Amino acid sequence: MTNQKTTDDDTIVAISSPPGRGGVGVVRISGAQAARIALEMFRRPGPGAGLRAEADLRAEAGNDASPPITPGRALFGSFLTAGRDVIDQGYLVLFHPPRSFTGEEIVELWAHGSPAVLRRLVEEAVARGARPATPGEFSLRAFLNGRIDATQAEAIRDLIEARTTFQAQVAHDQIAGRISKEIDPLKDRLLELVARVEASIEFSEEAEAERFAPDGGAALVLHGLRLDLERLAGTYERGRRVRDGAAVALAGLPNVGKSSLFNRLLEEERAIVTPIAGTTRDLLEETLDLGGIPVRLTDTAGLHEPRDEADAEAVRRARGAMEAADFRILVLDWSRALLDAERDLLRELQDRRTLVVFNKSDLRCGVGMDQVLYLRKRHGAFEISAKTGEGIREVRLRLAEAVGGGMGGAREEIFLTNVRHRDLVLKAAEALGRAEGMARDRIWDECTAVELKEALDRLGEITGAVGIEGIYERIFRNFCIGK
Ligand code: GDP
Repeated sequence: MTNQKTTDDDTIVAISSPPGRGGVGVVRISGAQAARIALEMFRRPGPGAGLRAEADLRAEAGNDASPPITPGRALFGSFLTAGRDVIDQGYLVLFHPPRSFTGEEIVELWAHGSPAVLRRLVEEAVARGARPATPGEFSLRAFLNGRIDATQAEAIRDLIEARTTFQAQVAHDQIAGRISKEIDPLKDRLLELVARVEASIEFSEEAEAERFAPDGGAALVLHGLRLDLERLAGTYERGRRVRDGAAVALAGLPNVGKSSLFNRLLEEERAIVTPIAGTTRDLLEETLDLGGIPVRLTDTAGLHEPRDEADAEAVRRARGAMEAADFRILVLDWSRALLDAERDLLRELQDRRTLVVFNKSDLRCGVGMDQVLYLRKRHGAFEISAKTGEGIREVRLRLAEAVGGGMGGAREEIFLTNVRHRDLVLKAAEALGRAEGMARDRIWDECTAVELKEALDRLGEITGAVGIEGIYERIFRNFCIGK
């Protein structure tokens, strides 16, 4: 995108299916020449078709009342080189503007998912006048042609990258314009304030300016609007987790059953479980789907006094993972008394987001009832058994709650998943805060108007409606080619 003009008449082409091999691969061509280019390299089977391409047949048929291609209908045939060699067989689908993804003429070639075949199809299209698309260029064109707004374009990327169904739903809601629906009423409220302040400026000579202040007083109205923006920005923390997932580290001394719990949670035997203390030397990481949020669970080596250099490194890594994690599960051993190192860990983790569990609840309690009661009360500790499965459901639930997943009605709730949106909402809120300060000082003039317009511009940038210079690149550069 950087050294590319963003609006041009070129017809662009790219492989739209993911890299690698697959049953089916898709090459997408978009632009005024898309149909011409595709038809030149396509031949339908059947009598009379011989070795001639579809385009020749159509030319021969002149203005045939039944055109050879119906938009949206898949046509079977062969893809050809310029020398009329068959590259592959597959389907050709035409989408007419404006009802196509980019708002331009689009042709999709569905071939077998072989990188060699797909590359060849792109080369053939380029040889016939198409230009290889830059990353995100299809989405950019959709945006420039008014088919989608900026939040929808960004959501397409999120949808493509979604790893859980819930993530995909959230992204889909955004493609359906959910963020814009939330932002637009806020913009309307701001616009009304801008109109009022401008009217006040206009009529200031006539001692009528007061008439144009909003009901309830400007400061109060601005305050309300600012709070709404801040509340929206505050949803980002949850939204970020939905989008990026959360990191959870298993912490505890060796042999308390961290690997066993790790396996239980993953419901598969991945980590090596052994009765010899301190055998999990490397960090094991797996992702689980907790209420729709991808949770990266890290099993660490025990946090213990290292015995040798390799061990020291393992402990260092365990500590690093524990500190970097969004949440921790501190595993204690139900069958024995707490050790000093565990008391230290409890102290260290008490203000951080940590779930404390007593593992091995199938064994006799060796912790001491006063300690158990204290830890239950102070840390919400509870008993589990990685061996029998007792309490594992509770761990999942508590973890899901902690990372912000597992909420049934979540789709009703709106939250920002994109840091760009959050920053712009915050900038708008800051501008409103300044306007609010002025309103409190009974200033309601050009300076207020400047701040209100600033807020409006920032909100406009979210959907790309106003003040969009420079945002294209930021939005579309994270796309892959073919999107
Ligand atoms: P880690 O060093 O903390 O990862 O601990 P492991 O998961 O390797 O477990 C250490 C030992 O405790 C192994 O012998 C496990 O079989 C045993 N263990 C783990 N969880 C339980 C449990 O819930 N009940 C019982 N009885 N033994 C367990």
